[in-house]
Order: sequence, then structure tokens, then C-alpha cells
Amino acid sequence: MAARDDPKPTPMMAQYLALREEAGDALLFYRMGDFFELFFEDARRAAAILDIALTTRGEHGGQPIPMCGVPVHSAESYLARLIKAGERVAIAEQVETPEEAKARAKREGTPSSKVLVGRSIVRLVTAGTLTEEALLEPRRANVLVALAELRGTVGIAAVDVSTGAMVLEECPADLLGAALARLAPSEVVVPEDWPHGPEEAIVRPRTTFASDAGAERLKAVHGVATLDAFGAFTRAMLAAAGGLVSYLDHVGRGSLPLLLPPVLRETAKTMAMDAATRASLEILESAQGGRAGSLIGAIDRCVTGAGSRLLAEDLSAPLLDTGEIEARLALVQFWQGRPIERARLRDALRGVPDLGRALGRVVAGRGSPRDLGALRDGLAEAARLHHWLSGAPDRPALLDTVLARLTGHGALTDHLSRALVPTPPTERASGGFIADGYDASLDALRAASGDARRAIAAMEARYREETGIAALKIRHNGVLGYFIEVPARHADALMAADSGFTHRQTMAGAMRFNSLTLHEEAARIAEAGGHALACEEAHFEALVAEIVAARESIAATAAALARLDVGAGNAERASEADWCRPEVLDKPCLTITAGRHPVVEAALARSGERFVANDCGLDAHDRLWLIGGPNMGGKSTFLRQNALIVLLAQAGCFVPASAARIGLVDRLFSRVGAADNLARGRSTFMVEMVETAAILAQATHRSFVILDEVGRGTSTYDGLALAWAVAEAVHSQIGCRCLFATHYHELARLAETCEALSLHHVRAREWQGDLVLLHELAEGPADRSYGLAVARLAGVPASVVARAKAVLAKLEAQREATGGIAAGLGDLPLFANLKPAAPEPASPEHQLAEALRAADLDALTPREALDLLYEWKRNLPKAAR
Ligand code: ADP
Repeated sequence: MAARDDPKPTPMMAQYLALREEAGDALLFYRMGDFFELFFEDARRAAAILDIALTTRGEHGGQPIPMCGVPVHSAESYLARLIKAGERVAIAEQVETPEEAKARAKREGTPSSKVLVGRSIVRLVTAGTLTEEALLEPRRANVLVALAELRGTVGIAAVDVSTGAMVLEECPADLLGAALARLAPSEVVVPEDWPHGPEEAIVRPRTTFASDAGAERLKAVHGVATLDAFGAFTRAMLAAAGGLVSYLDHVGRGSLPLLLPPVLRETAKTMAMDAATRASLEILESAQGGRAGSLIGAIDRCVTGAGSRLLAEDLSAPLLDTGEIEARLALVQFWQGRPIERARLRDALRGVPDLGRALGRVVAGRGSPRDLGALRDGLAEAARLHHWLSGAPDRPALLDTVLARLTGHGALTDHLSRALVPTPPTERASGGFIADGYDASLDALRAASGDARRAIAAMEARYREETGIAALKIRHNGVLGYFIEVPARHADALMAADSGFTHRQTMAGAMRFNSLTLHEEAARIAEAGGHALACEEAHFEALVAEIVAARESIAATAAALARLDVGAGNAERASEADWCRPEVLDKPCLTITAGRHPVVEAALARSGERFVANDCGLDAHDRLWLIGGPNMGGKSTFLRQNALIVLLAQAGCFVPASAARIGLVDRLFSRVGAADNLARGRSTFMVEMVETAAILAQATHRSFVILDEVGRGTSTYDGLALAWAVAEAVHSQIGCRCLFATHYHELARLAETCEALSLHHVRAREWQGDLVLLHELAEGPADRSYGLAVARLAGVPASVVARAKAVLAKLEAQREATGGIAAGLGDLPLFANLKPAAPEPASPEHQLAEALRAADLDALTPREALDLLYEWKRNLPKAAR
């Protein structure tokens, strides 16, 4: 390879540089024979990530050009690692054979020394657009999102390219974070100059996000004159969809992946949870990252990847419609009551291939014969399940809906079964996947090449006899094709001019020859083989076309199988530990008997410990529980278990309790005080307050809020004051159900003024100087702090604990004398009376004016200014908006 700044780069260099330019910020995989090669900076970056040898080739301005390469046949695993490391890769393939290149050069009159095989970028591999099995996690959806804003409303187009499932929705700009937290995309695409997208988003020209063009693209993709049948999409949604399809077009170089008709997602139909809530409840991922220790990790009993992906979707977007929730619960109950049938179903499902993803690859033009086999087997199994389950008595409605989607592929399945060999290969190029007996002309071609092979075998025997050389062999390799080989010491006879053999190659110890007859038979094999391959290829294309035509109903079957798996898996989980079917109703109650935390219970069980079940009983007259008690006493666990039970119930799962009556929750909030995070050095108290402010702005009387030690991230007085004010606001302004864990005993006095607030604590006992945590919830305020006992339990040296005891005694004496830090609170008027009629010095309006005065407008970027506006608006109390 020549220098980049050569006055006249070699043709290959010129070609490489043009492709490099086109690849933009993606790494360029440049195909050379059996390798993808990377050069220059690409090579350095890739070699470091892949931990492969960095070599050099040619020079550049006197410097050797860094190079590394990966074999084409194992490129997928390297791609997977590069994508994981956050790279994007442009694949430049050879788009003509050397022969075609030579022929082209001849036509164009280019000297043959300058002939270069044509290459072009055939595809961009990016995290959000993968379809390859090896690059995808079987149990996780892989979501690509495009965003477009129209007048403060953000349109969101989300697609899982591996299955084609596409959803359009919209949200106010300030709730975008929550929406993205729910979708958990692996790649986000935004218009250029739009400041609100995530930092790592891919930026695309604004023109690609036009709503009319977006609608036209969708209509064209689905061959419809209007999108009305799919849903009433807004302009913001269509603009996002336009950006999405245009990006897919860009990375696929003009070929689009599977796109199913877009589904309209109405935000009002699912429970809202913001990013902080999702993270703190560890729904799909634990705080450490990964499924282990998360809710889904503890409950997922699905036997297929598609089932696990659907369960993740259910848990990410719990429902608000009692009818839909009951339908899912009835399906779980159906399977729970039939353990034998359930086992049989799960056995059958275990063998079902990932239909949705096989379909995704086939439609994207990256399908293999094995994918066709997967579709054949999956659809056949679906039909068998339909046949079996249609006869089942007492079927719930959702099962009937599911069953209806399992059939209707008889002709296709039959066709695939006749056409394909039992286990088709993953490699399409070398043929061998079309079954014998499917096509007479293919059989004839195969017979011809078989005949020729047999003729060659016979020829070997004949030549041995004729020449008297027992060691003579007819062999085959990729360079010479078929040839005759004899040991060098016997070669003389064959070298004779009239021997009928022509010399091809001399090896150490052996000589290789050709003969006219061998040449003719070899040509017959090659010709028949070539025709056979072309014939198989044509059948492949025909089968693909048939599948593409049925893509929507195949996708529906895949979704139906996943729903069956989720229903049976949830029943399996419920049966393992006596979970119950929750009763979901539209009342402000939350009555849970003997509730457990699924993750903590499982963790304790592993070490042979027992989880102590606890009741929760919130209703309109007792909707805020203030929970005290020692550290490590089980407060956080209790809070979260109730939030998780609500979430599970509305997702249509059974719950870890012996009984549960759950009034629908429209928004779920979970907040954890920031003290634990102080070490991370960020202003975590600020984060805590911003997140708390969001609750006060967004929660409604139908919401459920859990607050875990909110206020502890600052000084005692500030913290107590804030906790006090937040508890009061939740109680008196919002009026929603709330569990509030705190170690501020002083908050107990809230019970005097807040009629729907009650006091509870986790029990502990000191026994022979040791602290015993009972993890049991009881009514009434916590009688005392066990901080010192906890310190001892944690291994703080006895001398230090003794000293702390002395200090504490002094402090407590002081408290007796003065009334403690909450001494002044006796005269605090009722919260309701505090609602400002007219702005007073510390009113939000006043604070806003102060903040406005203090803001240095010239120092703000437009983005920061907009953020500030949003923040101020958020912080205004509702009535003031
Ligand atoms: P707190 O919030 O009061 O500090 P946690 O809820 O974090 O306490 O619980 C501390 C530990 O106690 C948990 O990690 C768990 O091992 C144990 N624990 C909590 N609740 C229970 C329970 N109900 N039954 C048994 N062990 C529990």
C-alpha cells in the first residue's frame, strides 16, 4: 500500500481512501481475499480492542502503515467485541470477482496491471441494527431509537431490528429521560443541532426527520395508502419514524431490515416510572449491572429467548387497564393449575427456535439455510401446540387469542419441509441444503457430478493398473483442481511424451500430472456442481420470497409463542414458592398479606436463611406509613418489596405474597437518600433533591411512592426539615399512597397533624448486649435508635463504641433539657395552612425570581438555558402553572 499523500496513489490506495472517507467515524473492514483488513488509525483502535497483532504494510510518508486483520469466516466474533466496545463498523466487500474485474478492465481498456477488484461498503454494523445471532443476546431486545421534537413534544420511534417490532410514541421533552430509561436503547439517532438527545447519540441530517417523508416511507414499506389502520400517529412520531427509516436505509446501504407495522404506544396506558425509579428497583438490571440480582433475574422462568424478551417488556411497562391485567393473570392461573400440561408445554417450547429473529435475518437478506430450517421447525411446532391446546377445556380468553395466531402456515411449513434437508447448514454459498427429491433437475445435476466422481475413482484404479504404480493417486485441491500424483521415483514413465499425461507440478518427493480424461470428468463435476449451486440458490430465493410475503403472520406466531412462554413461566415461578394471584382494582388501596421481596428472599435462601414476610395495608384513610427502626432492620427491603409487588401485579404476574389487593397505580416512584453515594464525589444530594422534586411535580393521588431515607444526604437539620416537608407534601398535597423510611425519630410528630399518616417500625431486640434484627414490621414509632448496637455488630472496636455511648448519654441529657432538635416544631402550623395564598419571601415564585436574578445569561449555552427553564417550570407548584 502506498503513501496517503503520494501525488499518485496506487489504485488500491485510492480505492481504500475513498471508502475510508465514506465510512465516516466507523472502522473500515476492507475485504482482501479471506480477510477483512484495517489500516492506519482504524488498525490501532481495533488491535487494541481485539487484542490482536498490529503489523504493517507498505508505507505512508516514509512511515510503515499500521495494519491488522481478521479472518472473514470468524469476523462475527470480532465484530461483536468491537460493537460492545462502542465502535461502529463499515463493511467493504469485494463486489466483483477477479475475472469480472479483468473483463471490465478489458472493456474499459485499462492495462491489466492496474486491474483492481471493485469494492464497496455494503453495510454499516452498529449496536442498534444487528441481526446476527452471534452478535445478539438471546434474552434481551436490541432497540434502536430515533427522536424528533416538534414544539416541545418529542416523537419517539423505536424498533428492535432483530425482530422488526416497531413502536411509535411521544412524550413531553422533560419526560424523555423516563421514556429512554424504559426503552433502554442500544443506539439513539437524533437530528443535528438538537441538544436534548443522549450524549452518545448518532447525529443525522435534519432533513431526514421530516414528518411527511416519514409517513410516506412507512406507507411505502407496508404497501398501504394510509397509516390510519395502524394508529393515529402524530407529526412528532412520524418525524421520528422518518429519521429512523432513513437511518436504517443508510446503514443497510439501501436495503431495509424487517419492519413490522408500527404500533402506537399510548403513554397513558402504562404505569409511568422514571429512570431513577427503574434503577433503584433494579427491574431488568441490578445496581452492579447484569441480570443477576435484578427482579427479572429472580422471576424469569421462560424457556425461550423470545419469552424472556417479552417478560422484560411486560416488566418495563406495567399496565393500567384491569381488563388487560386480568387477562394475563388468567393465563398464568390456567397454567398454574395444570402442572403436567405446563411441563409438557415448556418442554415443547424449549425446542422452538427463535422464530422472530430468524425471520428478521431472512427479511434483511442475511438469512441462512439454517434460518429457513428454524422457521420450518418453529412454525411446525406452533401448529402442533395449536392442535393440542385447542382441545383444552376452560381456556382463558388470552389463550384463545394466542392460539388463533399459532396456525395458518400449513402451506409454507409443508413447502419448507419438502425443500430443505433435515439440518440445513449455516453456510449458504456451498449448497447442500435443498433436499434430494425436491427438484428433479437438481437431482440430475447431483447425479451427474456423482457419476463423474465415481468415474474418477474408477480412473484411479485403471491408471494404477496401466502404469503399474500402486502409489498413484487422484487428488484434489483448490489451486490445481483434480490431478494425478505419483511418488517422484515413479514419475519417469508419466513424463514420457506419449504417456498421455501432462506434467503440472513438482513437489518434494512427488510429481503431479493431468490427463485429458481426468480433465473432462473434472469439468463435468465443476459444471454440474456450478449448476447445482445456482439451482439451490434459486430455490433459496423462492423460499425467502414466500417467507417475506408471510412476514407479518409469522411475526404474530412468534409473539404468540412468546406469550405462551411468559404465561407458563410465570406460573412456574409462582408455583415454586406459593405466589398468589393479585386482585387488581381501581381503589386507592394496597393490602398485602405476608409479602416478600423476590430477590432478597432468593439471596437469603441460598445461604439457608429465612425471609420474614410482612404485611402492608395502605388505604384512603391510612395512606402514608412512616417506618423507623435500626439500620439493617429491613426498611428498604420492605419498601421495595411492596413496589415490586405492585409492578409485578400490573405486569400481569403472580406476586410473592399470600394475598394482595392492589389499587391501580398510575405512576410509581422510588427514591433513595443519597448518603451512600457521597463517596462518588458528585453532588448526590443535589441529584436526590432534583429527583424528589420530580415526585412532587408528577405524582398524582393514584401514584405509589417509596422514599428511603430521603434527606439523609445533607446535615441533620436540613435533612430533617426536608424530610418533614416532603412527607407533608406527599400526605397533604398529593394524597397518594406512600411508604417513607427514615431514621429521624422527630418525624413521628407528623402523626399529630397528618390524619392519614401512621407510624411503623422494623423490630429489633437487644439480647445479652447483642442486637437481634427481627426484620418484622410492627405498628407504632421506633422506640429508640440502635445505631451503637449496629456499629458493634459491624465490628467497630469496643473501645470506640464505649466512647460513643458516653457521648450519646451527654447528648441525650441535653435533649431532655431542651426538647431536642425538633423542639420548635410543636408550634408549626398544619401543612394545609401553609399553602401560600399570596407569595411570601420563600415562595417558589420568589425563589424563581431570585434564581432568574442570579443567572448569568451570557454564560449559558442554549441547552443550559432550556434546561434551566424546564427546571424552574418543574419546581413551580402545580397551581402556579
Ligand atoms: P434497612 O433499610 O433498614 O437498613 P435493609 O432493608 O437494607 O435494611 O435490610 C438489610 C438486610 O437485612 C438485607 O440485606 C437482608 O439480608 C436482611 N433483611 C431485610 N429484610 C428482611 C426480611 N424481611 N427477612 C429476612 N431478612 C431481611
